Amino acid sequence: MCGVFGISGHDEASHLAYLGLHAQQHRGQESAGITASDGGRLVTFRDMGLVADVFSQETLATLSGKSAIGHVRYSTAGGSFLKNAQPLMVAYRGGQLAVAHNGNFTNAAALRRQLEASGAIFQSDSDTETVIHLIARSTKDGFEARVIDALNQLEGAYSLLFLTKDQLVAARDPKGFRPLVIGRVKNAYVLASETTALDLIEGELIREVEPGEVVVIDEQGLRSSFPLKRQAPSRCIFEHVYFARSDSTLFGESVYETRKRLGAQLAKEQPASADVVIAVPDSGVSAALGYANASGLPYEVGLIRSHYVGRTFIEPSQSIRHFGVKLKLSAVRATLKDQRVVVVDDSIVRGTTSRKIVKMLRSAGAREVHLRISSPPTAWPCFYGIDTPSRQELIAASHSVDEIARYVTADSLGYLSLEGLGAAVGDPKGQTFCHACFSGKYLTPLSV
Ligand code: AMP
Repeated sequence: MCGVFGISGHDEASHLAYLGLHAQQHRGQESAGITASDGGRLVTFRDMGLVADVFSQETLATLSGKSAIGHVRYSTAGGSFLKNAQPLMVAYRGGQLAVAHNGNFTNAAALRRQLEASGAIFQSDSDTETVIHLIARSTKDGFEARVIDALNQLEGAYSLLFLTKDQLVAARDPKGFRPLVIGRVKNAYVLASETTALDLIEGELIREVEPGEVVVIDEQGLRSSFPLKRQAPSRCIFEHVYFARSDSTLFGESVYETRKRLGAQLAKEQPASADVVIAVPDSGVSAALGYANASGLPYEVGLIRSHYVGRTFIEPSQSIRHFGVKLKLSAVRATLKDQRVVVVDDSIVRGTTSRKIVKMLRSAGAREVHLRISSPPTAWPCFYGIDTPSRQELIAASHSVDEIARYVTADSLGYLSLEGLGAAVGDPKGQTFCHACFSGKYLTPLSV
């Protein structure tokens, strides 16, 4: 779970990278970093924390030059430490190199063991470092050829940005698990995980980086190639369900509209005798609107989200998470008192949040609480870059829907079906999206 941003050919490259990361803060809140190139030298600044706290005018002023890449991180592989913050930057025989990665290399551990056996010294525990070692060891001529050589040895999910003193290179894995788009602001090219980053800097969307595409931007302009073995696409369906921001266009579709369709389909599949529909903000809002529209029930604000805390789940430690829900959400009595309430959220992971929300709604006077989830039960961990706990911690891996309803103390619980989810994202046969977190059907070998 990370967001990346890159820009080439702009006098204020690092300032725009800062804004691009800010717009993508929802993709990772543990650490943030930017590497800039002034054409001769790369400079990186990265630290733990939110974008607005990590950077100051002074630090941005040290990141001069016309190209930059940036990264916001939530750890999915490797712990939450500064050494794992990105961009990772090294100097090797080809010069300086920085990399920002969204995704997860599924064969990184095996490759790392091989590399270490032949003398490589790793400086982080992040899977991303593997690609740097492979590039440094490649015997091919030229940076682009070395990147391709490295990528041909890697499996799994990656939307990658590389920066050298004179090139910005982007690559997306052949399955296209994670998003990556190309845009333009004035004469500069921009790369970002989500289109919302382009909107903030008043950039224009050109297109997605295609699955399996490598894009090189330098003084000669932009060139693209498809040097990796073609594979059937399997874009991450959970980006649409939860991860991306509703104002983004993801894989060519509006996230907001897609989430409304998820909610409408949920209303069809899982109706409830109720008086009002409310959302768990922010993740459930678009789906709740879709549910309300389709069911004919009024949509009201029943929970208010404090804007002064981050995502609770995103706090890695369980003790903080425990407090989190109350810090983050408060119930609106005027909406809830004596009402039969449908509450819509996008997913249940451990069940902790839902249980607290149901309790909160009842204490605020709700007569009945009907929980509706705009995706199927999350029963399988993700190995492609979404942080999910181990299978044991996923409540749906070991409990039936009725058991989960009892655990969260809801009067009823209904999930969207996998077929309904597929229909809402325009993939009724389940062929172009990865839905492993719901189905257990992993689409790449998983080596440990
Ligand atoms: P839990 O209390 O573990 O059941 O968490 C459920 C809440 O976490 C839901 O409100 C989701 O919106 C949110 N959520 C689902 N998946 C993730 C994820 N991978 N990272 C952060 N939050 C998530």
